Amino acid sequence: MHKTPFRLTILGSSGAMPTSKRLTSAQLLKHSNRLFLLDCSEGTQILMKRLKIPLMKINHIFISHLHGDHYLGLPGLLFTMHLLGRNNELNIYSPPGLKKIIEIQFDICNLKTSYEITFHEIEQGGSVIYNDPTIKIETIEMSHSIPTYGFLFSEKPLERNIKKKYVDKYDIPVDQILQIKAGSSYTTPKGEVLANEELTITPPQPRSYAFCSDTSYTEKFIDQINGVDMIYHEATFMKDFAETAKEKHHSTTTEAATIALKAGAKKLLVGHYSARYDNNTLKHYLKEARDIFPNTLLAEEGKVFEVK
Ligand SMILES: [Zn+2]
Ligand SMILES: [Zn+2]
Repeated sequence: MHKTPFRLTILGSSGAMPTSKRLTSAQLLKHSNRLFLLDCSEGTQILMKRLKIPLMKINHIFISHLHGDHYLGLPGLLFTMHLLGRNNELNIYSPPGLKKIIEIQFDICNLKTSYEITFHEIEQGGSVIYNDPTIKIETIEMSHSIPTYGFLFSEKPLERNIKKKYVDKYDIPVDQILQIKAGSSYTTPKGEVLANEELTITPPQPRSYAFCSDTSYTEKFIDQINGVDMIYHEATFMKDFAETAKEKHHSTTTEAATIALKAGAKKLLVGHYSARYDNNTLKHYLKEARDIFPNTLLAEEGKVFEVK
């Protein structure tokens, strides 16, 4: 059983423009005590407040691309963080251009934010843009009308847990405990060798989440996300709009499901719905995806999904 929280909250599920019921693209991923924001659309900060998400604790924001439905809530959020007197550095990852957009807003009103913003420009897929002892984040190259990236969150393998009864029985010294946790066997003072599998408990498998933002159907990142526990893949259209999807560099329900299937994913979330689909139509939309990939769920504002 995993003890570390790894949890996704959907903050926006609509494609291109918001509707009276849906906001455009944004998600919050919590891993351990860290909060990562994926895209930041109009209304993201309002919904975060409603859901009691502590927005000042977000230190890393990932913007998939610079179409308005994926970042127009960012200036507002940055202003709010300033008004609340934020001190901590904020890191923003996006394709080139965002720094210029944000700086012009601050320059025109003569504002110097209370906190530092570091912009990290993404130039290619497959690069590690964040790394800490518990999780690694890589870019995934999408296939869209402008440079667009998804993000792959991969947990680091956990250390093996040593069984307490052995520590007590043999009074194992600390330096040896560390080696056992890393996989070594242990030789007792009497020369008895205890295998690592005997001494330790296998930790749970590392988990992963792939956020695949706007893209037309492409298999180019399938190997990179192979075996992912949960994938979000846009599905702007139902399958009868396959031609439109292709023209607009978006995907359909069946295409998203095919990617999840080919990648060996365990769970698929679909979203970025065209505004033409109401909640009733989404039942048929979901069925189309489930016909190919049964463990598919709809992204919906406020809905929480555990990565497992
Ligand atoms: Zn979009
Ligand atoms: Zn787009």
